[in-house]
Amino acid sequence: MTRVPSRTRRPFVGGNWKMNSDRASAHDLASSLARAASSVGDGVEIVVFPPYPYLDLVRAALGESGIALGAQDLSSEPNGALTGEVSAEMLLDIGATWVLVGHSERRQKLGESDGLVADKLVMALESGLHVVLCVGETLEERNAGRESAIVERQIGAALANIPPTHLERMVIAYEPIWAIGTGVVATPKDAAGAHAAIREALASRYDSALARETRIVYGGSLAPGNAKALFAESGVDGGLVGGASLKASDFLAICSAAMIGVGAR
Ligand code: PEP
Repeated sequence: MTRVPSRTRRPFVGGNWKMNSDRASAHDLASSLARAASSVGDGVEIVVFPPYPYLDLVRAALGESGIALGAQDLSSEPNGALTGEVSAEMLLDIGATWVLVGHSERRQKLGESDGLVADKLVMALESGLHVVLCVGETLEERNAGRESAIVERQIGAALANIPPTHLERMVIAYEPIWAIGTGVVATPKDAAGAHAAIREALASRYDSALARETRIVYGGSLAPGNAKALFAESGVDGGLVGGASLKASDFLAICSAAMIGVGAR
């Protein structure tokens, strides 16, 4: 596995643990990933997103493995009387360097609007964090042929106040809602089409060079058996993994698939 992927679009794989794990299992999972990280190599950027209470112990377990630490959310405000919220500064203070913004579970189940997602994105990037910005359509929107329009709207709203210089600290995750946690995975062609629409939206908001350099990853029921075909698509630069990121061997197999798939183009 010696192929070196494009410097500007190094494959990226994120593991979104969601509201899963406990002290012991978070420690075990992070330790297993840390032990095996060298088998994947540094051709893939790997980030794990554990629940807030376990960020510190996961950071310690990851050690010098090269796997980065991310949080699943942040406040749009810097500090103050906001019970239950967690600020960007707190995340940086505890050693997190990445954060998820705009995950569909937060948009749909917790009522996050395009406006709030945009404010969180500004806060994260202005604070120096790296961000995975999630976008994606519902099944109804896809059946109505509106998937490109939806992701374009989400991208336009989220990036309204983001200068081009911040884009190098961002990965965009195309996560069709109908594929998240359902076992139904988008076809490589579906994913390629949506990624092309996202790249178009970036090109019209910024320019085509910046759009070409931005990593766009796929998320939604990724598994060791389907990852390679998706990553072989030229616009798919890796993945955001939910369920399969809770099992070290599956997550690592997806990381290897990103290395092979993206590198083989
Ligand atoms: C996710 O929640 O980001 C996700 C992609 O979940 P899953 O892989 O379980 O579909």
